[in-house]
Amino acid sequence: MLQSWLTLGVNATRATLGIYPTPLSLHLYQKKSNQPVPWAYTRRGGKGSVHFHVDTRFGLTKFIDDWTLYHELAHMALPYLGPEYRWLSEDFASFMQYQIMLQAGVLKGDLSEHYRRGTCLT
Ligand SMILES: [Zn+2]
Repeated sequence: MLQSWLTLGVNATRATLGIYPTPLSLHLYQKKSNQPVPWAYTRRGGKGSVHFHVDTRFGLTKFIDDWTLYHELAHMALPYLGPEYRWLSEDFASFMQYQIMLQAGVLKGDLSEHYRRGTCLT
């Protein structure tokens, strides 16, 4: 189930942002929560990596509908910009996550409504 989710997310991100020049490693950690992906973060340096805390009590559809995967993968489209430009990094990922979801056909509801509501930033 998690493999299907990651494959869909990577392919959706590639369809919108292209194939990244360096490979990423993706890491999963089991975590009980009230949502499928309660927390995630990226690591730079050498090979980039993205780390996801996941609650596998949720089904594949809940994972696909969650914005976190697209958001974190979008982060890796840009190099590390430093603390001064953290806002740009976050705004870019927050903007792109919905573009990726829209293009992949997994965005529920109206695009502009998602942008109005905003997201939690990770
Ligand atoms: Zn972020």
